[in-house]
Amino acid sequence: MLIGIPRETAAGEKRAPITPDIAGKLRRLGAAVRVEAGAGLGCGYSDGDYQTAGAGIEADREALLTDADLILRIRKPEAGEVPLLKRGCIHASHLDPFNEKELVRALQSQGVTALSMEMIPRTTRSQKMDALSSQASLAGYVMALLAASKLPSVFPMMMTPAGTLKPARVFVIGAGVAGLQAIATAKRLGARVTAFDTRPVVAEQVRSLGAKFLEIDLGETGQTAGGYAIELTSEQIAKQRAAQKAVIAESDVVITTAQVFGRKPPVLVTRDMLEAMRPGSVVVDMAAGQGGNVEGSVADETVVVGGAAGGDGADGAGGADGESGVSIIGHANLPNAVCRDASRMYGANVFNLIEDNWDADAKRFKLDLADDILQGCVITHGGEIVNERIKQFLQTGGKP
Ligand code: NAD
Repeated sequence: MLIGIPRETAAGEKRAPITPDIAGKLRRLGAAVRVEAGAGLGCGYSDGDYQTAGAGIEADREALLTDADLILRIRKPEAGEVPLLKRGCIHASHLDPFNEKELVRALQSQGVTALSMEMIPRTTRSQKMDALSSQASLAGYVMALLAASKLPSVFPMMMTPAGTLKPARVFVIGAGVAGLQAIATAKRLGARVTAFDTRPVVAEQVRSLGAKFLEIDLGETGQTAGGYAIELTSEQIAKQRAAQKAVIAESDVVITTAQVFGRKPPVLVTRDMLEAMRPGSVVVDMAAGQGGNVEGSVADETVVVGGAAGGDGADGAGGADGESGVSIIGHANLPNAVCRDASRMYGANVFNLIEDNWDADAKRFKLDLADDILQGCVITHGGEIVNERIKQFLQTGGKP
């Protein structure tokens, strides 16, 4: 079986789907591995590194996409490249299938077996394949560092002959995989951290990291069988906003990571809350790429609201500056900031998925659609949409 690794083409993307180490492991399973020239350069791996591990290097991207039996990439495939894929090939990547109706249909009619890495069920057996978690965890770490480097004061308490500096106050909204890592990182840097999440089970996890859990009585919230949050009603959102307002006003940093699977993220930090924050405060919105948890956040920009100069200003675009207003950082690809570890972790995730489904005799990926993990993440196969959730979603336009 030929495994093809195209170079990631999204602007600024530095991650690679696999590292040379994983190429070697795939070779040892008995697969042939072909990597597009330059695929690892963004995260520090040369073509020679992949070759040393036993992979072939392909300069012709079209040939790579056409020949491969199994394609691994991080981002969803570009629509224009779907017709190049071989009928019956397996394509594993992020796919965003609830929002990418056209792309799913294109993969279906091309006869591609499309695996969506986001749809791997969150079970104990699949933890090692869980790319959402591996990338979210790094995103949480990066968010705390971005906030610390933007804030015009320090995170830890410092007792010096010149006086005592108070620790920064950090408020984390959403304490799933990313939020917990943001909490842990901010704590390690010495900040005083408070967090909130709608899933009651999270409170204990937050406290075990040495942070305070903000208690808000929202009535019934709960979580799905898969561990995801259930969407709040508009009354509950209003209640949550009101209860968070005072904490946000006294925080130096707010980090938002609140998501409801398959839905637009809720807007939890509104303009009036931002205006109540001290000038120089920093907000990092992990959801900026999907509409935002923070009113006014913009993907891949730092927007400054309020402040002496008044009005809003994107970086370098005039208006208020970060010291006199509140900076809202909207990085849309946070794991990219630590692209080498992000590639290592993603590569390990896809390798574990392959190894778990590897037919050692035939030396190929064994596609058993009765397997619960594959049932969760295979979206199209044999010219059909085979994933029940996506099928239902596309037919009815209903709830994910
Ligand atoms: P996510 O990215 O979907 O959401 C991030 C967080 O936002 C969640 O904790 C969610 O409860 C929270 N949230 C949603 N609406 C909110 C609101 N209005 N206010 C505050 N917070 C809000 O979730 P995730 O981080 O990918 O994972 C969620 C959970 O899934 C984990 O904590 C865990 O319980 C489970 N999980 C299980 C496994 C596994 O067993 N293999 C792996 C990963 C995650």
